[in-house]
Amino acid sequence: MHSLDAYASAKLDTLARARLKRDLIDTARAPGVLVERNGRSYLSFSCNDYLNFSHHPAVIAAAHAALDRYGLGAGASRLVTGNHPLYGELETRLARLKGAEACCVFGSGYLTNTGVIPALVGPDDLIVIDELAHACIFAGSRMSRATVAPFRHNDVDHARTLLAEHRAAHPHALLLTDGVFSMDGDLAPLPALGRLAEEFDAWLMADDAHGIGVLGHGRGSTHAHAEPAAVPLQMGTLSKAIGGYGGYLCASRPVVELMKSRARTLVYSTGLPPPVVAAAIAALDLIEAEPDYAATPVKKAQLFTRLVGLPDAQSPIVPVVVGETEATLAASRMLAEEGFLVVPIRPPTVPPGTARLRLSFTPAHPDSEIERLAALVRHRVLGKVP
Ligand SMILES: *Cc1c(COP(=O)(O)O)cnc(C)c1O
Repeated sequence: MHSLDAYASAKLDTLARARLKRDLIDTARAPGVLVERNGRSYLSFSCNDYLNFSHHPAVIAAAHAALDRYGLGAGASRLVTGNHPLYGELETRLARLKGAEACCVFGSGYLTNTGVIPALVGPDDLIVIDELAHACIFAGSRMSRATVAPFRHNDVDHARTLLAEHRAAHPHALLLTDGVFSMDGDLAPLPALGRLAEEFDAWLMADDAHGIGVLGHGRGSTHAHAEPAAVPLQMGTLSKAIGGYGGYLCASRPVVELMKSRARTLVYSTGLPPPVVAAAIAALDLIEAEPDYAATPVKKAQLFTRLVGLPDAQSPIVPVVVGETEATLAASRMLAEEGFLVVPIRPPTVPPGTARLRLSFTPAHPDSEIERLAALVRHRVLGKVP
């Protein structure tokens, strides 16, 4: 065997033994929350399409119109000829929604974090980061070659201790967190983190991938707290509640200008297809026209947590922590037999011993089905007595 194939095969064997080998499963999504897998239809609680906008008629019509008028691909990096005029409109709209001076759109959320972080800090600098922050925030942090100090999840005092210990030795410091945690659904204490960052002259960046469109009247997690939060770097994605694809950073004008010259994932990667940009603008129209609709996914999630007897959902994401990987896989299979797609999440995506079912809710989930699912989770997954 060629040494390359032998290497890949041996790696795959190791992964399979550790039950870490993953497989892609063909999944066709229909409008709403139905998906088809292996010829069977399921009600999905595993999509991040929180507002069902990926199939909204107005979003589809906007993409169609742009496709007919402008074609498919952007043709080049934004800095060459890929900066379609629709970009300016989308960036103005995102900045307005987020209450920021300016905005810069990237190819995806992953490309935003891996572009922005190394453009802001370098090897002499410090990054203080929540231990449960998303993988691509850690990826961007490593690419910056800054000193990375993780703090215990949502523990502002621990973050303070790390800043007090290390801040003085570094010219610049970034404080990084998810605004809504992707596998736990809880919110970061952004007002307190904002004050901490100001105290130590650190720059707070919050990843709002799961907040935009669904929290704070659609404006996101920065705007979902009782007191205002000072978050000078608000990043997020267009790939979840916005229903399409892409990422963004909302910040001050000089910071956004700097990104356009220095963020390598913007400079050296092709711009988004114009239909995707047009679709995002249509989704923002919907969010701005009906800010109360944004609260529906959280209300659906809270119906589920009340019925199961879990702490009140703070976002559309609800974890049902089972613990062991095998038991979690079995729970997911049992729910699939009942017609529910609830994908199991296991290490290394979550810490060892915390394998879980991760559920997400949308306006299209009927209450009656949420009730049926909650009864199954309560009795057959968590073993609570009826
Ligand atoms: C999904 C996600 C991303 C990545 O966004 P994409 O647009 O899918 O690349 C970044 N951060 C968090 C917290 C996420 O959940």
